[in-house]
Amino acid sequence: MLNSEHMIIVIKFFSFPEKNDKIEIEVILLVISVLVELSHQNVDKTFDYSVPKELQSKIQVGLRVTVPFGYQTLEGFVLEIKRNSLMADLKDILAIQDEEIVLNHELLELGKYMKSITLATLISCYQVMLPRALKAQNKTTIPIKYESIVTMGKTPFDYEKLNASQKRIIDLVNEKKNVLKRELSSISASSVNTLIKKGILQEKKVEKYRLEEDTAVYPKYPLTSKQQKVVDEVLALNECYTPFLLHGVTGSGKTEVYMEIIEHQLALGKTSIVLVPEISLTPQIVNRFRSRFGSVVAILHSRLSEGEKYDEWRKIARGEVSIVIGARSAIFAPLQNIGSIIVDEEPTTSYHQENNPRYSVIDIAFYRGIYHQCPVILGSATPSLESYARAKKGVYHLLELPHRVLDRPLPEVKVIDLNENKNRRSMYFSNDLVEAIQDRLAKKEQVLLLLNRRGYSSFITCSNCGYVSKCPNCDITLTYHKTSDNLRCHYCGYATRREDVCPNCHEKGMKSLGYGTERLEEDLEKLFPEARMIRMDFDTTTKKGAHEKIITDFGQGKYDVLLGTQMIAKGLDFPKVTLVGVINADMSLNIPDFRSSEYTFQLLDQVAGRSGRGERKGEVLIQTFNPDHYAIQFAKTHDYIGFYQKEMQIRHQLGYPPYYYLTSIKISSCDYPLLKTEANVIAHFLKRELSHTILLGPTPCFVFCVNKRYQLQIILKYKKEEKLYATLQSLLDHYKGNSRIRIDLDFNPNRFS
Ligand code: ADP
Ligand code: ZN
Repeated sequence: MLNSEHMIIVIKFFSFPEKNDKIEIEVILLVISVLVELSHQNVDKTFDYSVPKELQSKIQVGLRVTVPFGYQTLEGFVLEIKRNSLMADLKDILAIQDEEIVLNHELLELGKYMKSITLATLISCYQVMLPRALKAQNKTTIPIKYESIVTMGKTPFDYEKLNASQKRIIDLVNEKKNVLKRELSSISASSVNTLIKKGILQEKKVEKYRLEEDTAVYPKYPLTSKQQKVVDEVLALNECYTPFLLHGVTGSGKTEVYMEIIEHQLALGKTSIVLVPEISLTPQIVNRFRSRFGSVVAILHSRLSEGEKYDEWRKIARGEVSIVIGARSAIFAPLQNIGSIIVDEEPTTSYHQENNPRYSVIDIAFYRGIYHQCPVILGSATPSLESYARAKKGVYHLLELPHRVLDRPLPEVKVIDLNENKNRRSMYFSNDLVEAIQDRLAKKEQVLLLLNRRGYSSFITCSNCGYVSKCPNCDITLTYHKTSDNLRCHYCGYATRREDVCPNCHEKGMKSLGYGTERLEEDLEKLFPEARMIRMDFDTTTKKGAHEKIITDFGQGKYDVLLGTQMIAKGLDFPKVTLVGVINADMSLNIPDFRSSEYTFQLLDQVAGRSGRGERKGEVLIQTFNPDHYAIQFAKTHDYIGFYQKEMQIRHQLGYPPYYYLTSIKISSCDYPLLKTEANVIAHFLKRELSHTILLGPTPCFVFCVNKRYQLQIILKYKKEEKLYATLQSLLDHYKGNSRIRIDLDFNPNRFS
């Protein structure tokens, strides 16, 4: 709360020509700086307001206030309470929105840091941290939910004169002290109300958190000596910020390691954040954590309702929980005294936000790790090349779990060449895969089938041999542009005509290939009419709780086959799955991205890791037109290091990360001629200013036209460019008043659009 030294007393001297001797003294103004909700480079600064007297004692940095702004009423965050200010005619704030601080000191500082590394507006950096209920937004209100609790009142009474149900109610309240009113009403609603009216009982409203907890029981295992060693290495450096990379094969017990570290922090009174990639993973992981840590676990992810998110956030901010599990946004959980930050499946693309502010959770995790002086652990079976290279250089502390727990073997992987399987019964299924599925159905074991839909129909491929055209300069798959009916490299702009005839096998097979889970499901039903099947993809999981249900049902053996897109590749733990089939490994090999091999290797290794996690041995069948591709060959032998070395050579040759950093600049406008001119001006300017940078483009983006807006892209490649941020900031400044041209920056993006 405000103390008197914050009060600013401004003495205004009014000089009246007639009465020069009279001085009027006015005690006014407390002045605050407010960052309003508008996110635009033009208003990316704070505005000063005065605080009327009746609100002065309540004002605090980090609260939301409503303010007049031009003709509008807006919300904003209080960023500063000023000790002095030149008294121009300031407007008063209209109201204070919150009782409790929304942005604490750490988050306020973190926002400034995010702005400095993304060049997004400061307000967008704060808004992205918060659940909608707490964003500065004049139009939304998400209420707190309350429920009634009943306690004993002050009015004396004669127990013997009460009726039977009244007695039962009084007994219950006497015993439990606080009882939910709806619990008592189930005995007799009218009796409860009578007792309350007489003052024998008292009713009070308390906040109700919306998210219900469930309690599954998972065993806690004694750690293996290898797991213990990893835990010890982390805890030895517990008192300071240390970035770790835990490279552990699928099923090596990484999650158990995380839980052990977190338990240790809890004992020290410290809190932890655990990030998991996909919402579909959370039910299993959340249950494992809940079963071990009980109600000190909060959950934050985009599948929660806004009310639930708000409730979880308040629990966290009030210090009622110590562990937060969630997807990307959970990295902003307002925990105090953080003892460990864990980023599981570190190379997950959704850890990088695709719209403003385009931040990466790993940067935020490191920032918070430094702030709290605690370990930050990135974990994966297939670390990103960038992270593994950093670990090799000693920037991250490398931890390794090269084997599965209890000497369980990694599954055997077979590669099936679709070129040799032309007479198969279904477009989707080779004979080997059909036989393997039949075998598991007979043995009552479970099957997971992955339909790779990454990069779906963005390129042309030969349906006969699987050939795709690549850019001769960039080794990137050429993207098919429907409007111009040609193929383009969206890195360097190289373009070529689309041909029907495949240059490789000379068949007339070049077309945009669409695979759909529904058609696949139909084929499956025809081939295996007796199998119980469930499909998990975007369409079957739009309803809330749908993921959880599919996962639980499959886990309980209600189905034999789980068919899904990449959302089934990561993190799931079903001990009865002994066969994983990959329908089309090539889809991700061909995406127009320099990381296509890396994505493919990760996907295959991850999904392979779902097989044979229990006592029975697992097998994996990968169907492909490119059986000799190194990403597939190294996935076959689970050889991450081999893949890493080969891929690093290629990245080195072609000048891609981690040897270079990349930044994308998207320039868009509804006026195409203007856009073209301005993009060239920008390219020219950047070439002149950034002498240590290679510039590619401008080229049309993959999605060239959205809502009548045309989009061009420039890619910057650099190892070290000191002027980068200053130059890009001046670019943003130059265009901030220009409503016809829009500039979007993405530093180290996952992919180029
Ligand atoms: P990862 O996160 O590396 O994929 P998990 O932590 O999920 O690995 O462990 C894989 C499986 O092995 C899980 O079913 C888990 O319960 C089990 N497990 C993990 N550690 C142990 C252990 N020390 N002893 C026995 N089983 C373990
Ligand atoms: Zn190219």
